[in-house]
Amino acid sequence: MKILEYDVVVIGSGVAGSISALELDGNKKVALITKKKLKDCNSYLAQGGICTMRDDYDKDDFINDTLKAGHNKNKLEAVKVMVEESRDAINSLINYGVDFNKEENGHLAYTKEGGHNKARIAFCQDQTGKWIMESLIQRLAERENIHIYEQCTCHDIIVQDSKCIGAYCTLHLEDLAFISSKTILATGGLGGVYKNTTNFKHIQGDSIAIALKNNIKLKDISYIQIHPTAFYEDNDDRRFLISESVRGEGALLFNHNKKRFIDELQPRDIVSKAILNQMDSEKVGYEWLDMTYVEQDIKVRFPNIYNYVKNTGIDPKKDLVPIVPAQHYTMGGIDVDLYGKTSMKNLYAVGETACTGVHGKNRLASNSLLESVVYGKRVALDINKSVLEKYYLNLNKFKKEKLNYDISSKYIKETIKNDRLLHA
Ligand SMILES: Cc1cc2nc3c(=O)[nH]c(=O)nc-3n(C[C@H](O)[C@H](O)[C@H](O)COP(=O)(O)OP(=O)(O)OC[C@H]3O[C@@H](n4cnc5c(N)ncnc54)[C@H](O)[C@@H]3O)c2cc1C
Repeated sequence: MKILEYDVVVIGSGVAGSISALELDGNKKVALITKKKLKDCNSYLAQGGICTMRDDYDKDDFINDTLKAGHNKNKLEAVKVMVEESRDAINSLINYGVDFNKEENGHLAYTKEGGHNKARIAFCQDQTGKWIMESLIQRLAERENIHIYEQCTCHDIIVQDSKCIGAYCTLHLEDLAFISSKTILATGGLGGVYKNTTNFKHIQGDSIAIALKNNIKLKDISYIQIHPTAFYEDNDDRRFLISESVRGEGALLFNHNKKRFIDELQPRDIVSKAILNQMDSEKVGYEWLDMTYVEQDIKVRFPNIYNYVKNTGIDPKKDLVPIVPAQHYTMGGIDVDLYGKTSMKNLYAVGETACTGVHGKNRLASNSLLESVVYGKRVALDINKSVLEKYYLNLNKFKKEKLNYDISSKYIKETIKNDRLLHA
């Protein structure tokens, strides 16, 4: 087995992992490991945008909207940190090269989604995640201290004397032990364990499985968000998402009798429940979204969504679009403090795989990219000011075992079920 030594190992190349790697001091030797290509992450799929506090007067409103959507199960301290540091997060992204949509006067343009009392979401047309990731990938390529390992799967962390000292991975068929002073888990949510999901299928809670195996504390793992409007297709693939900002810009929901049944801008859990109830009472597999009510030209405002739907033979400029709720986001995860520290020494978790407590029971739309950036920066800050110790692998004590995805997804589902009972 090959042993590789680093100061910091980051697992996962979404917004959370990429920002953490980029914000680490340039004198740190960093490995960024990712299961497929850098861009194969849910972050790349993000459509609607990224929230930000518009100005100091918006602070209380933004906090209140987040708490209201989260059914007040949020950790207030974590929400305050996210909101207070949101302008700084957007500025960091702009400095990394992200070109957000702007008004004619050059100021950031904002859109609105369900649960927000005002427009406060910065966006890049309807492919915000793509344009954020493209900028971050360019910056990563310029950094000599960051070594990128694509097609490299992490199967476990390496624990010695109750401390995390790195990660056990395979690159193609070769076993690799990454020995590091600090390890950051940023493997995203667990959508891949669900049949109906908007997530990439390879993002399947690997860090959660690793945490379960190593007795690392989890929090609120049953808080799973179902998105109301995934595009309905009769297959088992990942469901294409029709962003909430489409409803934010005026699209309406109808049942099969062409009747509205819910205020489209209620938080996601409420809208999802209403759609599922309609489907149940009408005994149908989907309901309808009518995009003709969007005031702007949808071909210009939502080109990605327009083209995807149009290519299936449905014209969203005049036809009704079939939609179905689908698993979308994991609010719970590995329990972390305000600097992403887990219950194990030297181990951090960030982004969707972590539970900072900001989302409570239900994430407010477009708060997840923001959480990833704010807390990705904080994880890096904490590591930058730590003294990095050097560890050596005791090969006699090291047992390697690869993740068995069938077993781990079964275990994850059981844990979700037990946590649900706990919260009932
Ligand atoms: C369709 C869609 C639209 C969305 N729209 C928005 C939006 O508009 N605004 C918003 O705020 N949020 C949105 N979200 C949510 C948001 O994109 C994610 O929550 C966020 O990007 C998560 O970032 P992350 O870095 O934690 O994880 P991800 O971006 O999911 O990245 C996880 C990374 O970990 C890697 N990985 C997984 N397992 C392993 C392993 N074992 N070994 C090595 N690497 C591994 C993956 O390959 C990937 O690189 C959307 C999500 C989806 C699915």
